[in-house]
Amino acid sequence: MSATPLVRSSAVLRVAVVGSGPSGCYTAQSLVQQDPDVLVDVLDRLPCPYGLVRYGVAPDHEKIKSLQTSLRTILEHERVRFLGGVGIGPGGVPAERLRELYHAVVYCVGAATDRHLGIPGEELPGSWSATEFVSWYSAHPDSAADGFVAGARSAVVIGVGNVAVDVTRMLARGVTELSPTDIPHPALTALAASRVTEVHMVGRRGPSQARFTTKELRELGSLPDTEVAVHAEELARDPAYLDPSALPAPQRRNVEVLRGWAAAESRPSAHRISLRFFLRPVELLANGGRVGAVRFERTVPDGRGGVRGTGEFEEIEAQLVLRSVGYLGVPLEGLPFDPATGTVPHLGGRVLREGTVAPGEYVAGWIKRGPTGVIGTNRPCAKETATSLLEDASTLVHKDLPGDPLEALRAAGVEPVGWSGWCAIEAAEAELGASLGRGVVKLPDWQSLMNAARGR
Ligand SMILES: Cc1cc2nc3c(=O)[nH]c(=O)nc-3n(C[C@H](O)[C@H](O)[C@H](O)COP(=O)(O)OP(=O)(O)OC[C@H]3O[C@@H](n4cnc5c(N)ncnc54)[C@H](O)[C@@H]3O)c2cc1C
Repeated sequence: MSATPLVRSSAVLRVAVVGSGPSGCYTAQSLVQQDPDVLVDVLDRLPCPYGLVRYGVAPDHEKIKSLQTSLRTILEHERVRFLGGVGIGPGGVPAERLRELYHAVVYCVGAATDRHLGIPGEELPGSWSATEFVSWYSAHPDSAADGFVAGARSAVVIGVGNVAVDVTRMLARGVTELSPTDIPHPALTALAASRVTEVHMVGRRGPSQARFTTKELRELGSLPDTEVAVHAEELARDPAYLDPSALPAPQRRNVEVLRGWAAAESRPSAHRISLRFFLRPVELLANGGRVGAVRFERTVPDGRGGVRGTGEFEEIEAQLVLRSVGYLGVPLEGLPFDPATGTVPHLGGRVLREGTVAPGEYVAGWIKRGPTGVIGTNRPCAKETATSLLEDASTLVHKDLPGDPLEALRAAGVEPVGWSGWCAIEAAEAELGASLGRGVVKLPDWQSLMNAARGR
């Protein structure tokens, strides 16, 4: 990767970045920083920028959410334009048309769907993907679901990654802690009325193999009026828990936190979070037409880093089940796709079609490397892609374009939500919050977002 700016002695290079999440913003930033003659349009199907920083990061993680401020400065750069409400693909602007309007297109579309467990009962009412629950409390305008916590006393969260920790924590949070966040009002009201007192977070492997990070894990122990319970004998089935000396530092720290909880006295609390390991879900069991329990098979280490079933089973009562076993990219019209990894094949960010570089097409972020890493991981990933693109620029720039892509979009009947439209949404969210006696509160549906953006 070249560390010095690439200088091109030719005309303006027009680049479309599809997706305004971290990878889209960092790609735009890297392009304008490295090349003084590049103009970048950042398009997003939503009228709001920032991708999962706005619609994934939990509302109570205000410090991480505040990263939006630095992403904002990128989208306000004089050579960057935000064009919201423009979907690429079916129902929106065809990908082929986009390629005609720009010298290069960088797809930064993230990983929009969730993996399935593939077990009986998964579709029972009361069983949801963590994505659905996250979209609901994040006010994603596509979220149609509701009633997650209604009637539930016990919840099972399947998975032991950071998203599983997020949803577990949100179920245990009280209204006093959530009210100052930007959580939409219907979700706040529902969580305030929730009678879920017991949340079981369950992994099929051992504690040393869990994917949560120590900071997120430890935070569970600092929730008001909440006890974190672990089963000491279950933890001890993991050889690396008993002797963590060979573990990498992050996993060793996780083990230390769990040991602390194992040694702690039980104390009566309004909420109890129970962390369980070596349990593989095999079936969701119905009760009165909806989920009533999850049946797990006990597993043991297989000596090769995995686990095997033992034929012993355990049922955990749950009227709410949240499945958090990973995100997956979805194919984008006209782009090659590897269904196994949910990513677009690439070489240094250049899209590969049948093993050959497709000129002018690039990827960055989760759709490039899969749903891993933290927000900051997207920065070097985006820089690699931007550098590849600028290395190709002297060839790409020779393509004749029909003029300003915005005019071409408008001529085709597409009226994007520009930066001023997004600022109007922000103002409407501040106004809504003030009317509710809260800070900024997110608008939860397409109509109110578009009304605000269009000044209606
Ligand atoms: C629930 C959850 C919580 C997380 N919390 C944290 C956290 O606390 N800290 C942390 O460091 N990381 C966190 N992450 C990870 C972080 O959010 C990701 O690393 C990051 O968002 C990935 O960036 P991205 O740009 O590739 O994708 P995204 O952020 O998903 O952005 C993709 C963008 O593309 C747009 N798009 C998709 N398809 C199209 C299309 N066809 N046309 C136009 N636009 C399109 C989407 O609307 C979206 O805005 C979390 C992830 C999840 C799922």
